[in-house]
Amino acid sequence: MPATTAKIRISDLAMEYVNGESGERHLAVAGLDLDILPNEFLCVVGPSGCGKSTLISAIAGFMKPKGGSVVMDDRPITGPGADRGVVFQEYALLPWKTIRDNVGLGLKFKGVGSAERDRVADRFLHLTGLAAAAHKYPHELSGGMKQRAAVARTLANAPEVMLLDEPFAAVDAQTRMTLQEELLRVWEESRLTALFVTHSVEEAVFLADRVAVLTPGPGRVKEIVDIPIARERRQWASLDADPLFSRLRDRVMHLVRGLDRAAA
Ligand code: ADP
Repeated sequence: MPATTAKIRISDLAMEYVNGESGERHLAVAGLDLDILPNEFLCVVGPSGCGKSTLISAIAGFMKPKGGSVVMDDRPITGPGADRGVVFQEYALLPWKTIRDNVGLGLKFKGVGSAERDRVADRFLHLTGLAAAAHKYPHELSGGMKQRAAVARTLANAPEVMLLDEPFAAVDAQTRMTLQEELLRVWEESRLTALFVTHSVEEAVFLADRVAVLTPGPGRVKEIVDIPIARERRQWASLDADPLFSRLRDRVMHLVRGLDRAAA
């Protein structure tokens, strides 16, 4: 197979759910082609149920394809691995562990000693603005802080690719905007390859180098829109009124709306 320039190449992907009791089959993704480039921030948008989370599961290795392939660095993905870190909407923090221990958890699984774990955890807690919460427990934190901790935990594991599945869907609008800005600041420190799934067009255009719009389910890529907005301009206070941002948001919105009509 020739070497590709993609970090992850998804070719003709088909993903299917089979009901354990009835045996009924549901095709969630079909004929999906997508290249995720090294060090890019790629957002995936599309109507609810179009297969965005399923796409994350395929790349994370949680689910096997029914057809087609998902290849990372020219090697097929056959299961979960530490090279891919996933951030979910519902934080997935362990309630009986402190935030610092939650952030260091992946390192513990890798056999890293406690002093080194704490050192790495503290670095990422600092980066995500959580240094003062290191000794707190998840229930003592706001939703926004818990999501910062989930991002810190993923980054502490030093993945090559970060997969984010609607991570900010559960927080209020103001916190969400702050988290988006903070995520970009943290991402720019590492520039690891990021795939961010959301149904919010504004969020996608704010964050992404490119936005892939999926068709209604079974999802495939309808169109990819480049977002040539300089990184240093990505702050809500200035971007909200920026004509380029508005134009790109309208373009992506139009694509998604058109798809919604096609589905009706
Ligand atoms: P999205 O993230 O875009 O909202 P999903 O990937 O969650 O979409 O789901 C894609 C399709 O697969 C939807 O029609 C959904 O109902 C279906 N689906 C998701 N999970 C399951 C499951 N565990 N069993 C059966 N169908 C599922």
